[in-house]
Formats: sequence, structure tokens, C-alpha cells
Amino acid sequence: MRIHLINPSHVSFGIAVITPRWLYVLAAATPEQYGDPVITDETLEQFDPDSIVAGDVVGIGIHTGNALRGYEVGHLARARGAWVVYGGIHATLYPEEAIERGGGHAVVKGDGDVAWGQAIEGCLNGSSTTIYDGGKIDAEQFLKARWDLLPADRYMWASVQTVRGCPKHCSFCSVWKTDGQQPRQRRVDAVVEEIVELRRRGFRFIALADDNFYPVTLEDLQQASRRADHHRLEELKTMRAERFELMERLAKLPSDMNFFTQITMEAAEDPDFLDAMRKARIKGALVGVESVTAEGLKDVYKGFNLYGDALVTRLQQFKQHGIHVLGSFIFGLASDRADTFNATAALALKADVTFAQFVMLTPYPGTVDFAKWELAQAKKPDAEAIDGIPITRHWLIPQSRRPKVYTPHPTLSPDEIRGRTQGVWDEFYSLAHIWRRSRAVKSLKNRIGFVLCSKLYRQMYANTGIATDSARHAKSERMARMLAKPCRRLFVGKPMPELQTPV
Ligand code: SF4
Repeated sequence: MRIHLINPSHVSFGIAVITPRWLYVLAAATPEQYGDPVITDETLEQFDPDSIVAGDVVGIGIHTGNALRGYEVGHLARARGAWVVYGGIHATLYPEEAIERGGGHAVVKGDGDVAWGQAIEGCLNGSSTTIYDGGKIDAEQFLKARWDLLPADRYMWASVQTVRGCPKHCSFCSVWKTDGQQPRQRRVDAVVEEIVELRRRGFRFIALADDNFYPVTLEDLQQASRRADHHRLEELKTMRAERFELMERLAKLPSDMNFFTQITMEAAEDPDFLDAMRKARIKGALVGVESVTAEGLKDVYKGFNLYGDALVTRLQQFKQHGIHVLGSFIFGLASDRADTFNATAALALKADVTFAQFVMLTPYPGTVDFAKWELAQAKKPDAEAIDGIPITRHWLIPQSRRPKVYTPHPTLSPDEIRGRTQGVWDEFYSLAHIWRRSRAVKSLKNRIGFVLCSKLYRQMYANTGIATDSARHAKSERMARMLAKPCRRLFVGKPMPELQTPV
């Protein structure tokens, strides 16, 4: 009997950018007596059903985007006599669906660090329990990932989590509901020890896979102070101090290490924080810009962001502190008009963000947007469906038949939104613009590397997601496979087995 952990994906590139951390955390959560789990990451290669024998336990982690492939994998495993257990955000939101549609015997809801072991025991002991609710565990219980099980030479970046949860409540995001609004910060020692292990193995680039690396803003502190809420103020100050302590420790790691994280734009108002990030070599951050207009920000409940020229200035502040921005923009908001697309491309170029992603608004389960949309659909006399599947269950529609745009727009057709979004990717990632942005790195070799990585990013995230024709999909996959190998070499370093943990 063996334990398997599978990360489903309908596309595989042979090499992946970031390690799917959950696989290695659940490997650590697997009770020792069952041996090391067999790990399959389908973003590298497809799962082989022959690797399963009757009586094995197969854990499949799903988010909404890969749920359908996850269910296929679950059926294949069950047909071979395995126990099938689902986990991840999507299974947390729809446990019954994972059991009914995915052939699951059980589901782990919420954090799996503790509940995964219980689910394995339950299956093997013939328990009738189908739902194991892991809830939101305390940060002290977060497990260190089993990086010793990582395959060699397959990932460019490793991933480490420092904080779970986000105090904001953006309408398109489910993180604040699934991971909670109370940030749970991991002990600094535990984070640093894990990073040291990864550098020993040759990883120079680490994604700090946090929901929001900046959980306490200056405004939060001022508000607590204005309310004379001393208890809250002390709590916030402690959390902030721990962030600084973590960054001081990161600064003591080998100088060839680089970190990347996700952060809200408010961090740009906090020069001390940005300076600490620079010293810690947190060289890049995904910043959710979402919209370049005031109306768009209102649409997504993100009033704390800026727009127009103030937005350009704020994004530039990151760069002035040595932090590259991966700006994330959403298209298809009710307030978007035809000229919003060009205005967004122009702003992204003017603000000099190093990378950008342009996504089309998709109502994902667990979000405010989804709840509103589902309600509106339910009120319609003829509920929309594709091949008998209601579009409010869009993740169950086969990939090739899935619409690209779901929410009806007051002035733009779905094709217009898709076409214009593709146009913005084309503009932002034109060779001329990439070459100009490559000034961010110094040597010619690094500039060429920057161009390769920009093209890879675009192939992996734009063409395979937005394009509707299968020829363009296939070409993108081929291109991504070709670019991935040389890109990986740019990121990894010589292993440092002797590296000690800085104090
Ligand atoms: S989009 Fe970012 S800032 Fe907004 S709730 Fe989600 S994690 Fe928090």
C-alpha cells in the first residue's frame, strides 16, 4: 500500500516555474508508518494510472481551475481500487461535488496539515467519515515541506509560506474567506530554516507564497490608535515587528538569493517596509492593480487602490525601492469600456511594471462576485447551460467548450473582451517593449534571459488561457516547453550543502 499525492493539470510543460508547495507539505503530513508518498505534479507530466494498485490512498488537491482534471484522475485511481481523497480550495467549497463527480471516498476541508493524516487513517480503517474538516489551524501547526522528495532539475523557483490569510475582502477573491481575514504568521525561525534547506539544494529564487505579505498597513495602525484600541494596536505592532524580523534574517542569507511575493499596493506608502524588503532581496512582488479607473476599483471592492497618475506614481515607488512589480489587471468589469484596454496597456507601460498579467473577470466560487452572479442566474427563467451543465458550474464544462467570459457586460461582447485582452498581452509583451524593460538587469546575458523569461511567462499564462483556437494552444505549449529549459538554468545555483542557518 502506498500513499499518492497528485496535483492535476490538463497541460504539462516538462519543467514548471514554481514548486506546488502543498504537495510537499502534505507529504510531511503523511504519517510516517506509510512511508514516503509518491508525488505527481501534472504541470510536469501526466499521471500514470498504472502507478496505482488496489488499496493505495490517493490525495488530489484541486482549485476551481483544475477541478475537472482532478475528477478524471480520481475516477482513474478509484477504478484501480484506490481510496480517493480530495482537498484544496475547491473541495473545501464543494465537498459533495468532489465525492459525487470525482468518485471521492473522502474530502479534507480547510487546512490539510493535520486533517490529511486523519483522512488516510479513516480510509484504511474503513471509517464511514467522508468529510475531515481541518479548519484554519494555528500558525504554530504549519508544517515544513518535505523538500527531500523534490525531483531534481524540474522547477525554477521553490515556494515557502510565511503568512496565511488576508484582512482585505476583494470581491473577486476567495482567499479571505477560505484562509480567513486574520493573518496567521509563521515563526521566523521555521521560515528561515526551510529557505536555508532550499538554498542548500540549489534554489536561489524563492516565492514567498503568501496571500498578502503586508498584512498590517500604516492605516491599520493609525485606525487602532484613533480608536484607542490598545490591545489591537499592540497585536498589530507585534505582527509588523515580526515581518521586519523575518526580513532582517532574509538579508543575512547568501547574496545570490532572491525572493518574490504578493503584496497590496498600500506597501508603497511605507518606505521603511519597502527598504526592509530591498535589503532582504525581495526583488519582486505581485501587486493587484486590478483596474486603472475609480469605477473599476469600486466594482471589485478595492477602494484602497489608487488610479490614474497617482497609480503610476505609486507603482513607480516600488521600483524606486528596488522592487520589481508584476502588475495584475482584470478586464471585463462592468465599468470597462472599449478604451479601458488601451488605457490599461498604456498605464502598465508608463508605470514601468516589469511584468504584467491581464486576466478576464471570472466568477470563482467562494467570492462575492460568484454569489451575486449565481443568484442572478438563478432568477433567470432559462438558466444558461452548456452540454447540460449550468454555467454556474463552469469548471465542470470540458475545457474546450468552456466560455472565456461569463458575466454579461453592459456594453462589450464576450468576443470583444477576449480579443481586446489578448491585444493588451500582445502589446505589453511585444519584443520592443520587453527589450526596453530588460534594462532592469545589467549584463547582455541577463537581458537575453529577461527576454526569454518574459516570452515564457506570456506563453504559459496568456496564450494557453485566453486563446480559443487549439492550434494556438498547441503552439504555445510547444514554445513554453522549449523556453522552459534554458530559463530554468538562469534561476538555479550551485548547491550549498554546508550552508548554515543565519541567526
Ligand atoms: S485579492 Fe489580494 S488583497 Fe484582495 S482579498 Fe485576495 S489576497 Fe487579499
